[in-house]
Amino acid sequence: MTDKVTRTEAEWRALLSPEQYAVTRQKATERPFSGEYERTWSPGTYHCVACGQQLFESDAKFDAGCGWPSFSVAANPDAIAEEEDRSHFMRRVEVLCSACDSHLGHVFDDGPAPTGLRYCINSLSLKFRPK
Ligand SMILES: [Zn+2]
Repeated sequence: MTDKVTRTEAEWRALLSPEQYAVTRQKATERPFSGEYERTWSPGTYHCVACGQQLFESDAKFDAGCGWPSFSVAANPDAIAEEEDRSHFMRRVEVLCSACDSHLGHVFDDGPAPTGLRYCINSLSLKFRPK
């Protein structure tokens, strides 16, 4: 079980840039192909921008051509929480940081083998740490 990180909205606002706040706390989506990590292929780890929990590894990153960083598997199953999202007249699965409930993006079932998953994640929710 992941230790929970709880902060007030004012604390999150102070901690995050307005763009990071809009995505992680208000579930906004960055424009496709605009994100800092969309074209990052160096080895390293991807962490939650809000609380620092490790979420993904560069080994799992692949080019989905969708305009957002895409991963086939989480760094560990406990790092990611999932919730059904019925907004925008679609049925999607939202993914969140399990520690601080920051919105990360969505997971789809059209990813590469062996998982068949595509975690479609906003760069603004991530902090890359090169190896
Ligand atoms: Zn987090």
